[in-house]
This record gives sequence, structure tokens and C-alpha cells, in this order.
Amino acid sequence: MSFSFLSASSHALVPYGWDDVWEAEFRPYAESGLVPGRVVRVDRNMCDVFTAEGVVRADTALVMPSDPMRIVCTGDWAAVDPEGGDPRLVRALLPRRTQFVRSTSSKRSEGQVLATNLDHAVICVSLAAELDLGRLERFLSLAWESGAQPLVVLTKADLVPDTTYLLADAEAAAPGVQVVVVSAATGEGLDVVAAVLGGGSAVLLGQSGAGKSTLTNALLGSDVQEVQATRDADGKGRHTTTTRDLVPLPGGGVLIDTPGLRGVGLWDAQSGLTQVFAEIEQLAQDCRFQDCSHQSEPECAVLAALEDGTLTHRRLESYRKLLRENVWIASRTDQRLRAELRREWKQRAAAGREMYERKRGGGGGHRHGRVH
Ligand code: GDP
Ligand code: ZN
Repeated sequence: MSFSFLSASSHALVPYGWDDVWEAEFRPYAESGLVPGRVVRVDRNMCDVFTAEGVVRADTALVMPSDPMRIVCTGDWAAVDPEGGDPRLVRALLPRRTQFVRSTSSKRSEGQVLATNLDHAVICVSLAAELDLGRLERFLSLAWESGAQPLVVLTKADLVPDTTYLLADAEAAAPGVQVVVVSAATGEGLDVVAAVLGGGSAVLLGQSGAGKSTLTNALLGSDVQEVQATRDADGKGRHTTTTRDLVPLPGGGVLIDTPGLRGVGLWDAQSGLTQVFAEIEQLAQDCRFQDCSHQSEPECAVLAALEDGTLTHRRLESYRKLLRENVWIASRTDQRLRAELRREWKQRAAAGREMYERKRGGGGGHRHGRVH
């Protein structure tokens, strides 16, 4: 990486993910006298921003949009007013590269953004429990959906005698994704994870008990407390944060852990799903019918792959299940889709009612009271 274009003051931001591209995008703001900073924590309409002079508290009221998807979020790069006391003012946000959104159909704007500008989504899976590939695929789909590159980390390797087959199974469920076996107890694999995360911003995903906190601590070492202590000492009216949702890692890279990110299920992840199941999508292109449902259609490439064993039943079933769930979750959280479904149910009910009434011989537009 080259920092040749970086101004002297913005070098301090590099551990927080600043690079030449951010610098270039920020130029117009710099020209109007604003300073860049990364949002490390948000709390209602205030946020903590790491700038070249340390963490400052800033008011986000000026950049409060009507669209909730554009509300300031941990991970955002902000243009902050260098003048004024505590709090400062956020004047603008740089366009996001990626974002994690909960409970929405991604094309519409009713979601809650949980973290932004992520490069890696680390999916932690415990080897101590039975490997649930369906769950892994679910996390993979939402990782892809965010725009971040997934990394699968199989944790607690010290608890299983042989990880060969588990690793192979996880790799088969995660095409195009690196899978690393780690143990916080022995230190195995931690260097690999640290190296991958060294280039960018990451979030940890996974079930409760998967080993996320333990991995976080192993990656952070004791540095986080030290950083906190130095900041306490520098004073000068600067806001000292006790909790932060974004911390730089000692080996490079940034870890983002917002409360909303913990315990996520499946959000709307339609396009993510197509990447998790890339080989099925690929096969489907060779089906005779474009809208093939791969159930019983002639010349179906997916069914042919099942037949010759190149595709497993488990994988196809998992794909179908996630597609179904995804439609349901999207409908649950998306007003418009929900309204559409309700209309559809009403029409169906009306059609059923009509048929029922015809059968009873009550035609001619004449209604026979309520049917329940
Ligand atoms: P989280 O809920 O995903 O944050 O999971 P935790 O990090 O709290 O870990 C859950 C449990 O697994 C804790 O009791 C940890 O001590 C244990 N654990 C985590 N990593 C390892 C590991 O590498 N080896 C072993 N033996 N236990 C681990
Ligand atoms: Zn087909």
C-alpha cells in the first residue's frame, strides 16, 4: 500500500482504514476546511469520531436524512467541523463502500444499518458443536449481501482430534471463501486471521458461543486498554470514550462490533444467496426453461447434477430453504411486499369465496351473506 497522496495529518487515520481513495473523495471537504474522521460509536444524534487529533464528540443533526439508511453509523467516514467546542458538528458523510443492513429488502430504504465500510465479514463457527452447514450458508449469504468478503473461521480446534473432514465440509459449503481453523487456546490459525484482517475493516458474525469474544480478545491482545489509557491522559476537553464499537487491531486492520451486529439471523439477502450457491445458479443457466424450478422440469441441469452426484441433496435443500425463508423475512419486514402479499391473500380468499358460492348455486352477482 502506498500513502504517497496522504496529507501529513491524515496519516494518523491510516490505522482506522484511511487510504488514498478516501483521501481523494475527501478533497472537496478538505478544501472547505473540514477534517476527516471515522465514526467509532453512535448514540442517538451524537457520535464519537476518531480524527487526527483523537476522538471527538460530534453532533449529527446536520446530516440527519429522512432516509434511515443514511443515518450516521459506526464505520462511516465523516467530514467534521474543526472549529467549535464539544460537541463538534458532522457536516457530511463520504459515500459508503459497503454496509450491513438488518431487516429489509435491500432495494428499499426501511432497513437499519448496523455497520459500514467493511471489507471482511468473519463468520465464526465452533468446531465443538456439530457443524451446521445450513447455518453457515445463512451467515455467508448475509456476509455477501453486505458487500464485504466473507472469511470462515472454525474455532476451538483444540477440542477436536482431527479437523480434516470438518474443514473440507465447510469449504464445500463456502465456495470462493477462505476457511481457517483456529484455536484461541493453542494460538493455531490466529496469525492467518490477523493477516487477512490486516488489510481493512472487519466484523465478526456467528452464533452465541461460537467464540467471537474470545477471538476478539486474542486479536486485540491488551492493546485496547492501553490505547484507552493514553487517551484518558491527553485531556484538552477531548471526549474520552469508555466504549467504542470500532477499534484498530495491533496487527493492522479494524474490528467493528456494534450491539446490533451480535446475534443476527438471516436478513434479506437475496443477492447474497446467489453467491453462496453460485454453483447452483451456474447450473440453472443450463436448464432448458429460464424459470425452471428444478423440481420436475425436463432437461433441468440442476436435477441432472443431483443425478450424477456433482450436487448434493443437502445443498439443494439448503438453497431452497433459505430462498423460502428469505421471502418470508423480507415480507415480514417490508411494508410494500407485505401489502402485496395481503392483497394476494385477499384475492385468493375472494376467488375461493366465489367458487364456494357458485357451488352452492348462488350465481348472478347475488351474495349469500358472509363466508368464514
Ligand atoms: P461468543 O458468544 O461467540 O462471543 O463466544 P465466546 O468467545 O464467549 O466463547 C464461548 C465459549 O467457548 C467460552 O467458554 C470460551 O472460553 C470458549 N472458547 C472460545 N474459544 C475457544 C478455543 O479456542 N478453545 C476452547 N477450548 N474454548 C474456546
Ligand atoms: Zn432446472
